[in-house]
Amino acid sequence: MKLTVKYRIEVTDEQEKLLRKLGYYATKLYNTDNWQRREIWAQTGKIPDWYEQKKKLKDNHWYKLLPSQTAQAIIKNLQDNYNSWFHLRKEDPNAKPPGFRKKNKLSPLTFYQQFSIEGDTITLVMSRKFRAEEGVDKLHLKINNWREIEGIPKMCNILYESGKWMAHVVYEIPEVPLKDSPEIMAVDIGIINLAVTVDTKGNSTIYSGRLALAVQHYFNKEIAKVQSKTMKQYNKRGSKAITNMHKRKRRQINQIIHMVSKEVVEEAKRNNVGTIVCGDVKNIRRGKNCGRRGNQKLHAWAFAKLLTQIEYKAKLSGIRFEKVSERDTSKTCSVCGAVRRANRKYRGLYVCKSCGAELNADVNAALNILKKYLQERNISRSIGVVDAPLTWRAKDVVPS
Ligand SMILES: [Zn+2]
Repeated sequence: MKLTVKYRIEVTDEQEKLLRKLGYYATKLYNTDNWQRREIWAQTGKIPDWYEQKKKLKDNHWYKLLPSQTAQAIIKNLQDNYNSWFHLRKEDPNAKPPGFRKKNKLSPLTFYQQFSIEGDTITLVMSRKFRAEEGVDKLHLKINNWREIEGIPKMCNILYESGKWMAHVVYEIPEVPLKDSPEIMAVDIGIINLAVTVDTKGNSTIYSGRLALAVQHYFNKEIAKVQSKTMKQYNKRGSKAITNMHKRKRRQINQIIHMVSKEVVEEAKRNNVGTIVCGDVKNIRRGKNCGRRGNQKLHAWAFAKLLTQIEYKAKLSGIRFEKVSERDTSKTCSVCGAVRRANRKYRGLYVCKSCGAELNADVNAALNILKKYLQERNISRSIGVVDAPLTWRAKDVVPS
């Protein structure tokens, strides 16, 4: 399993200067490579591939200033851009081939074996030529938001993003042996309740989505305010302040998703669950649990993220992760199995017209996911009685 962690790095003035040079060299190499490919293309009608270019550029000035794998990654990157253009061209004959990067653009720097992470420090190994020119053979970069990851760092991308230096590190996470437990927990994902769990023993928890909705609502209102102001003053929609608010909103919702997914998996561990099964939210129906106001909808990315986070944390704990289709899971009565569009739902309550059962609508959906999974896998198991689901709420307002 792979995991990408985004670190912010603090750089000294000296390191900033050196990283800027490297980013500049990378842009130079990219453009040199592109220039050569275009030249040969014009002469022969054929575009050389990355293998040829790698060989040809080996002694290039910019290539040698970069760590060798970083240089190769630049050439590979241009190749990828050509490949997507080849595809695009089939549908759109006017599609343009990859262009040149602006001179002042700092290209991302990719490291494979020429980097290491120890504690909160990333070490980048420089090329021989760089060493000779700058008198520096290694860069030790301090990570600002470091956290311990139980995995092997495989790849590191150093980027300059809106005024900050970032390191995106890809870790290989070792497989954890799967637990040998027959208990299964179903998770229904929604908006009013971000997650509702029910397991085969009858344990159930409701993870309120109220905080996420409040965050969403607050920022949407603030963004609208600032937007109408900038519209009046400058006659444009976007501004730096608005971008920042979008970012803060996303960050806070991400934090809630992180907390909820962690709690869900903690619950599974506590109740000795061996398998977590989620409804596939790929096609979450419009209006499902949405409340009245359209602007209260959480974006699809939030659900997708919650699902991946649960999957990732489950796997780290040796818990199997499965998905079943969500079809009919909120329409069906989990007690008698009747499927009716007209089953009343009010205040989050599911009321069955056939058997009169009344239960929390999301608990009902989670029970249906659980039953569906048992049925699809041909597992014969009874499900414990769900009497009183617990409720979990994010206690603290998340830091902005
Ligand atoms: Zn019923």
